[in-house]
Amino acid sequence: MKRVDGLKTNLPLHQARDKALRTCLACKTMREKQNLLRLIVDKEGQIWPDFSAKLPGRGAYLCLEKACLESITDKRLGVLRRDFSPQLPQWNVLQKRMFDMLSQRLNQLLNGMKRQAVIGRDAVMHQMWDKKPLLVLLATDAGDALVRQVNDAMEKRALGEMKSAGHGIMIVSLLDAESLGSALGREKIAVVAFTEKSPLLKLQQISVWQQRLDLMFAKQQGK
Ligand SMILES: [Zn+2]
Repeated sequence: MKRVDGLKTNLPLHQARDKALRTCLACKTMREKQNLLRLIVDKEGQIWPDFSAKLPGRGAYLCLEKACLESITDKRLGVLRRDFSPQLPQWNVLQKRMFDMLSQRLNQLLNGMKRQAVIGRDAVMHQMWDKKPLLVLLATDAGDALVRQVNDAMEKRALGEMKSAGHGIMIVSLLDAESLGSALGREKIAVVAFTEKSPLLKLQQISVWQQRLDLMFAKQQGK
């Protein structure tokens, strides 16, 4: 028998909730809630990412698309004043905060996915010939030969696959071999792949956001 008190029937409710649309506060794009990063503002006016999207209170949402990230300024964050009392300027602090919290989240996710990890060049290459969705994490300090091999294999898989998240292959380089290894409870890992679907999407989203922020920092420092 179905219970409808909201706790015992969490699966259908989750599905319904995930389809809900929200508008990105910065670029005004409407997207499914699950593809946006929820932000909350605490009593001190500090803005925090809420990855679980479950913290109480009203939230605001960011899409973290590349163009969106580049367009965010403290002035744009000012729209939060409609519902909250954010301390501004705060964008610089918030970027750093999002990055650090994404790193933590990434480590947690990787740690929870230890058992599904396909580790090492041969095992990963083998997976790449399969047509299943695949997220490949390549260490930032992986050797040139390995990077080339992984990229070649990716190109050989149908290129069009990459476009839709979760249905293709994605290669991300965020952590060096030592950090990647430690997140997965191993020694150094140069390359690892994940094929499981549902945590994969989350991992992919976190990795992509993380990488965009990272690129943005690199750009800001280059200026
Ligand atoms: Zn946006």
